[in-house]
Amino acid sequence: MVDLAIIGGGPAGLSAAVYAKRAGLSTILFEKMFFGGQMVNSHNIENYPGYASISGIDLTAKFTEAVEDVEKRMEEIMAVDFSNKILFTARERIQARSILIATGAKPRLLGVEGEERLSGMGVSYCATCDGAFFRNRTVCVVGGGNTALDDALYLSKFAKEIYLIHRRDAFRADELTVNKVKAEPLIHLVLDTEVQRLDGKDSLENVLVRNKKTGEEHAIQADGIFIAVGNIPQTEFLNGKIDLTPEGYIKTDESLQTSMEGVFAAGDVREKELRQIVTAAGDGAVAVDSIRKYLQST
Ligand SMILES: Cc1cc2nc3c(=O)[nH]c(=O)nc-3n(C[C@H](O)[C@H](O)[C@H](O)COP(=O)(O)OP(=O)(O)OC[C@H]3O[C@@H](n4cnc5c(N)ncnc54)[C@H](O)[C@@H]3O)c2cc1C
Repeated sequence: MVDLAIIGGGPAGLSAAVYAKRAGLSTILFEKMFFGGQMVNSHNIENYPGYASISGIDLTAKFTEAVEDVEKRMEEIMAVDFSNKILFTARERIQARSILIATGAKPRLLGVEGEERLSGMGVSYCATCDGAFFRNRTVCVVGGGNTALDDALYLSKFAKEIYLIHRRDAFRADELTVNKVKAEPLIHLVLDTEVQRLDGKDSLENVLVRNKKTGEEHAIQADGIFIAVGNIPQTEFLNGKIDLTPEGYIKTDESLQTSMEGVFAAGDVREKELRQIVTAAGDGAVAVDSIRKYLQST
């Protein structure tokens, strides 16, 4: 029996482990792939306080250094009995007094040729993270929701021109944002259009698109493409036992407790506005403070 079981070793889970250690909680942290989570995919992080510029791998090393003596297991949590707080891996079961879900999210891929090969070489899923690298360059944004339109507006601060590619003729984003996008001269709308292929030798050079109505194909010359077609929160293993938003994010209250008592959530996996390393790390701290109080009261 441990005081706290943390599921996920990204910035939210690792930051929670730091706070759990300081609070004197017996803790075990499970990670199914590698520590650092999505942070590892970032070649250059320029928005984490304390570092003008650092790679995701180096920042992960700093995070893990701080939790060397916290018990960690490279194992996937396959299922959880939330009523009795028992976690199951393929090989063992662990009983905990409280649980923190910090399993993050994965960006939804477009699924076109060239996307995975050019990921990090012009193909990005995070405008807030990578936008500044495209100063005076031509970029595309793909998507029709608030994230895509906000990304296009954000990129208009850096890029020379932006092609906003959407497969329908109307956007799903709120009216105010749509109007701002339409009023921005650097943003060109490419509607009723789908991306077919991404081309480039060492980095992105061309985005091949196809108009859905006319069937016409043409290439847009671009240095970067920001894909904002949604995220997939990693919540499959919850098996419907915790309340989620329609998009699959975990609902939490102010203390970051979920719909189940003693079960908390932190980071990209929960419903929130800004999904970044700094907010994930902040969530980890808030969640453990709440967990400490919860454990004292039980
Ligand atoms: C390409 C890219 C670049 C980015 N660049 C930046 C940037 O420059 N600055 C910035 O602030 N943010 C950046 N972000 C966003 C940032 O990485 C995320 O907001 C942050 O990592 C979220 O942290 P998290 O701990 O909530 O989740 P994640 O980082 O997603 O970590 C979750 C962890 O949980 C593990 N896990 C999932 N399910 C299980 C399970 N069942 N059992 C055990 N383990 C499990 C996963 O393997 C993963 O390691 C970037 C994201 C991407 C994709």
